[in-house]
Amino acid sequence: MTQVIDGKQISARIKDELKEKVAWLKEQGTEVTLAVIQVGKDPASSVYVNNKKKACEYIGIRSLSYEIPEETSEKELLELIDELNNRQDVNGILVQLPLPGHIDEEKVLDRISPLKDVDGFHPQNVGALCIGKSGFVSCTPAGIIQLLKRSGIEIAGKECVVIGRSNIVGKPMALLLLRENGTVTIAHSRTKDLKEITRRADILVAAVGRPKMITADYVKEGAVVIDVGIHRNENNKLCGDVDYDSVAPKCSAITPVPGGVGPMTIAMLMHNCVESVSLQKM
Ligand code: NAD
Repeated sequence: MTQVIDGKQISARIKDELKEKVAWLKEQGTEVTLAVIQVGKDPASSVYVNNKKKACEYIGIRSLSYEIPEETSEKELLELIDELNNRQDVNGILVQLPLPGHIDEEKVLDRISPLKDVDGFHPQNVGALCIGKSGFVSCTPAGIIQLLKRSGIEIAGKECVVIGRSNIVGKPMALLLLRENGTVTIAHSRTKDLKEITRRADILVAAVGRPKMITADYVKEGAVVIDVGIHRNENNKLCGDVDYDSVAPKCSAITPVPGGVGPMTIAMLMHNCVESVSLQKM
């Protein structure tokens, strides 16, 4: 029988564990604090920011909200980041993407102190992941490792194939699977004979950004399939990069969309906020 990996349940458990840790830190005199910056009023960004604030509230993390106008200049935004970098009472800084066109996203993300970069996007944190040093890890791939571990799925020695090489998902995913001693292949838009490669996978991570592209013929019998994609189909229902109905019967385990990888991203963001306290003490 196929194991359906329940991301909602696993993320709820992680949030409850964090709640206890945050309460303990409060008793020790540390109030974990996340600063969230949103430039402009993009409706999708507002939904994400609100979900993050709600998660903070549930766990007991103090969230400071900076909702600043669309016209804010890059210089003003960088000054705000400098101010938050210097504040002793702020542990994590998050800038909600995308930013308005007149602001250089890379410049802004690079300005966040690597010790407060809870999204794990700063080059120093990406480098740390690469050479196995401590630092923040990008939330979605970190959440996938938790899904696998907490579902009792062994990674060491397994053939792992990641489809997608983005900086936020594909690359850190591959590095994390390698850190767990998987044998890792990264496939991407220029890969030749993709099916031949994906059919070798014991663990297949699809982060392609193409609705239902991964059909049963991409998957080996008994594989574990992790679906990172989020799309709305023609009926406005959520679906992933994996064609769930055809793939699920072939797998030993699979994540659904919704309710698989999605809920883990915020849980891991909260994890990074709590982690920031000890990273800042190192
Ligand atoms: P992206 O567009 O930056 O990267 C997609 C990758 O897929 C690229 O590296 C590209 O080389 C590869 N690709 C594209 N077409 C391909 C093809 N035909 N064959 C093989 N490889 C191909 O996307 P991303 O930011 O990495 O996100 C991937 C998906 O995951 C999207 O659907 C996104 O919405 C979703 N996502 C979900 C979460 C979450 O919390 N669940 C977080 C981030 C992204």
